[in-house]
Amino acid sequence: MKKVVILGSTGSIGTQALEIVRGSEELRVVALAADSSWDAAVAQAREHGVESIAMSDAEAAAAARGAWSGAVLEGQEGIQELIASSGADLVLNGMVGAAGLGPTIVALGEGIDVALANKESLVIGGELTTALAEATGARLLPVDSEHSALFQLIAAEPPGTVERLVLTASGGPFRGRTDLAEARVDEALDHPTWKMGGRITIDSATLMNKGFEAIEAHHFFGVPYERIDVVVHPQSIVHSLVDLNDGATLAHLGHPDMRVPISYALHYPERADVDVPRLDLAATGELTFEAPDLETFACLRLALDAGREGGTAPCALNAADEVAVAAFLEGSIPFTGIARVIGAVLEEMPARRAGHFDELFEVDEEARHRAAAHARGLAPA
Ligand code: MG
Repeated sequence: MKKVVILGSTGSIGTQALEIVRGSEELRVVALAADSSWDAAVAQAREHGVESIAMSDAEAAAAARGAWSGAVLEGQEGIQELIASSGADLVLNGMVGAAGLGPTIVALGEGIDVALANKESLVIGGELTTALAEATGARLLPVDSEHSALFQLIAAEPPGTVERLVLTASGGPFRGRTDLAEARVDEALDHPTWKMGGRITIDSATLMNKGFEAIEAHHFFGVPYERIDVVVHPQSIVHSLVDLNDGATLAHLGHPDMRVPISYALHYPERADVDVPRLDLAATGELTFEAPDLETFACLRLALDAGREGGTAPCALNAADEVAVAAFLEGSIPFTGIARVIGAVLEEMPARRAGHFDELFEVDEEARHRAAAHARGLAPA
């Protein structure tokens, strides 16, 4: 029996992970953490017989205590305490944003394997996070569909044979458009193939998400950026590819359904039955591919540049993006303002080495302040 902690349990990844656990004989949830949806979190705890939960929101924690007799920890520290005292074999980190980095650090520090859906743990802290995992022997297992695909493809190959990683991108709702100045929030939230949370859906519309994924892939697999490519594939059937030294290319295919990579990460190194539609290529018809448009989708270019610069640059990139996306969602900056805010912040904050996570948290804070100031500058008077 594998003991699992699920962070972000009421979100898109968390609820699908609990669905996998519900259907599994090998997995047991021992702790849950959520943000503010305390009633949903308490219902999950009851269903899975969990004795302690953590709520990042203090009011939600108080409400959960009123409704449930189990232990309710609170805030970021509560989440970290929950992990450290869980006795878990695996932490699934489905938290959104930079807030997910701290819990990843605690789990790896405790020597607990982490199934990572929180991109920021590697985007912000890639160099330090992977070094910490190496030091404690804890494993990082990808949950993101593209990285799960690459992980499975690479696992079958002897060292030294993989020449290139190719990440597929759906292209998002604005694929093929070249003028996005008037792009609306509801259009940006209408992702063609994947059902996901708000921020990641906007990041998919700007292609920032794919830039984050390139940074993630660089750290997960130790592959330099000049050997990581992005190709737009609107059907989201091919989840990623690897080019090998003998000219062969391997691809990982399936319907776009996060339960597949979530199940793989939770059961690794085993595979378990997952009740999802099987791929029927004749019924699927055409699979198409095209190069990404780095002019229109400037966020992808900004992310790849920040990745190559390394050090603190991806941390500033992520923080500026979180602020810019929130400003776009509340209607205070235009869609194209997202890249402008991020570009301005990166220009003001040249990359430097980070020797400790605390330096990254400082860069994160500074980048947020700068991004908020730039966003105010773009807001309608
Ligand atoms: Mg992805």
